[in-house]
Amino acid sequence: MSDLRYDGQVVVVTGAGGGLGREYALFFASRGASVVVNDLGGSFNGQGASSKAADVVVDEIKAAGGKAVANYNSVEDGDQIIETAISNFGRIDILLNNAGILRDVSFKNMKDEDWDLIIKVHVKGSYKCARAAWPHFRKQKFGRVINTASAAGLFGSFGQCNYSAAKLAMVGFTETLAKEGAKYNIHANVIAPIAASRMTQTVMPPDVLENLKPAWVVPLVAVLVHKDCEENGSIFETGGGHMAKLRWERSSGLLLKADASYTPGAILKKWNEISNFKNPEYPSGPADFMTLLERSMEMGPSDK
Ligand code: NAD
Repeated sequence: MSDLRYDGQVVVVTGAGGGLGREYALFFASRGASVVVNDLGGSFNGQGASSKAADVVVDEIKAAGGKAVANYNSVEDGDQIIETAISNFGRIDILLNNAGILRDVSFKNMKDEDWDLIIKVHVKGSYKCARAAWPHFRKQKFGRVINTASAAGLFGSFGQCNYSAAKLAMVGFTETLAKEGAKYNIHANVIAPIAASRMTQTVMPPDVLENLKPAWVVPLVAVLVHKDCEENGSIFETGGGHMAKLRWERSSGLLLKADASYTPGAILKKWNEISNFKNPEYPSGPADFMTLLERSMEMGPSDK
């Protein structure tokens, strides 16, 4: 990474008072960027607030000769976070939507407030920050966004239905930003990280955590947001030195003639064809229904 620099660029990192966010902030400041260190400074489950978390990281950056300013808003007030970038540094180039909290509880015991707060911080917070940055990105024909998903969102996780829903939302959100932003050189990608932090310290043993330093998530993110990187609309998992891209897979599927013979019984009879992944496609959009419709019209009646 010795050659990747971000001189003259402004990076907003949400939730940068600890964990992954702190590592992003330190890194980009050390590579020439001016950084907005946002952090609400509450507990891991979203209680309280304090300016200390962001201040400590800003002090650390300044002590190392870097440029940084603190912002203490919740990501729900994303416009104020982006305004901090504009009023202090005059621009915004890179947005790392990283802030997050947990409210883990089994689905049976989930309360509306646990659900609502998780959706507000992760989904609305990422939306508000990106929405406020977007006009600047479009105007300058450059922008990079990283949204933060989770394995819990991609695969589900016991006791985390609120968090899983919010984190998979980050994937759909990113895919659409990528499509809308492409012609303005705005790229959006989404990561599902794994790292030792206050979020994971109670659920993983110390020897595993030792091998999951948050700093090891930074290099992939640094590549993705670099001006020379063309990647857009992709999903990555990363942690402990591992990184991999994920994509959708679609079975070649079952096509039945859509007439009176198209019944639940006809589907059940050919169920295996729906879930047979022998000849898969790797789609980046919905199935081509016009072609399928034409093929279906040429077919004989479904075999009931
Ligand atoms: P962390 O708790 O160390 O850091 C999150 C930071 O976000 C905290 O400093 C917190 O104060 C801040 N924050 C919380 N709510 C905020 C709000 N409303 N506004 C502004 N700041 C707020 O956790 P982390 O592990 O570094 O997590 C960073 C991101 O990565 C989160 O989005 C998390 O869901 C995601 N993630 C982490 C892991 C992992 O293994 N650590 C796995 C999957 C996803």
